[in-house]
Amino acid sequence: MNTEIIDLRSDTITRPTDAMRQAMAQAPVGDDVFAEDPTVNLLQRRVAELLGKPAALYVPSGVMSNQLAIKAHTQPGDEVIVEKDSHIFNYETAAPSILSSVQLHVLSGQHGILRAEQLAPAVRPFEYYMPRTALVCLENTHNRAGGTIYPIEEIRRIRDFAKALGIRLHLDGARLWNASVATGIAPREYAECFDTVSVCFSKGLGAPVGSALVGTEELIQRARRFRKILGGGMRQAGIIAAGALYALEHHIDRLKEDHEKARLFAERVANNPVLGIDLKNVQTNIVVIDIAQTGKSTGELLDLLRANNVLLTDANYTSLRAVTHLDVTTEQVVRAAEIVANSIRS
Ligand SMILES: *Cc1c(COP(=O)(O)O)cnc(C)c1O
Repeated sequence: MNTEIIDLRSDTITRPTDAMRQAMAQAPVGDDVFAEDPTVNLLQRRVAELLGKPAALYVPSGVMSNQLAIKAHTQPGDEVIVEKDSHIFNYETAAPSILSSVQLHVLSGQHGILRAEQLAPAVRPFEYYMPRTALVCLENTHNRAGGTIYPIEEIRRIRDFAKALGIRLHLDGARLWNASVATGIAPREYAECFDTVSVCFSKGLGAPVGSALVGTEELIQRARRFRKILGGGMRQAGIIAAGALYALEHHIDRLKEDHEKARLFAERVANNPVLGIDLKNVQTNIVVIDIAQTGKSTGELLDLLRANNVLLTDANYTSLRAVTHLDVTTEQVVRAAEIVANSIRS
C-alpha cells in the first residue's frame, strides 16, 4: 500500500526548488530600508514592468499588500466595496477596520464575480452624514469561489463606472498569474484597469515569501511609509526576493500544468454521484467539491481522507477544496482523485 501523503490543501505549501534555492543563495543583497537591496530593486522593476505600472513594492504577504492598498487609497470613515466571498472580507482578520478605520460594503457576486450594474445602488450619495465610497476591490482569480476568472469585459465595465465617479479600483491578484495563463490575457492588460494591483509570489509561483503592490509612484511612496509603520520594512530581503524573481522567470508558464491537473482531478471526482462538481467553474488550479449529498460534515470527510493520505481543506460548511500546485505530480493528483471518488459514500 502506498502511504505517501498527497497534499492538495493549498498552492502555498510549495517549497523552493533546488534551482530557486541556488538563485536565492547567490543573490546580491543590501539594506532594503535604505532601498539599497539590488535584488529587491530588480524584482520591483520587473513586477512594475510586467504589470505596466510605474512602481512596485515588495512586501512580506498578500494580506499586507491588500491592506497597504486600502490604507493608501482611503481616509478613516470611507467605505470600500468588496464581494462577500473575497479574501479581503473573509481572511484578513478584519484588518481594514483595524488599520484603515474604513467600513466594508459587501455585495454578493456570482462565483465571486460582481457585475458593474450592482455598483450603482451601492455607491453612497455625496452627503456629509454618509460614508464616502472611496474604493472597490476585485479578486482575480477568485479564491473562495474556486479559482474563477473575472471576465475582462466585466472588469472594464466596472472600471468605466468607477472612473466616472472618481472611485479607486484595487485588484487582489494573488492568483492573477493563473488568470493570465488560462485566458492568454497579459497581466498588464488586466492591471491597466486598476489603480493598484497586488500579486503573490508564494502561491502557485512557488517562491517561499512575498507579494508585491503596484501603482503610481506617489501611491507606492505612501504604501512604503505604511509598510514601515506595520513593521514590514525588511533588510537583506534580496534573499527571498530572488526566489520571487526566479519564479517570475520560470514558474509562470508552467501554471497551465496545474490547471490541467485540476481538471483531471475534477473529472475523476465527478464520477462519484454524491459529490457535486461544477466542471465549468473549474477554470484554473482550484476545485470545489460540494458534499451536501453525502450527509457528512466537512470535518468528517477531511478526517476520512486524511486517514487515506489525501489532504484537502474545507471551502465552506458544505464544500471541500483541492488545489493543484508545483509539488504534486499528475500521477499523485489522479491517485488522490481516485481516493476521494472511492472513499466517500452517502
Ligand atoms: C493567499 C491570498 C492572499 C494573501 O495571502 P497571504 O497569506 O497574506 O500571502 C490574498 N488574496 C487572495 C485571493 C489569496 O488567495
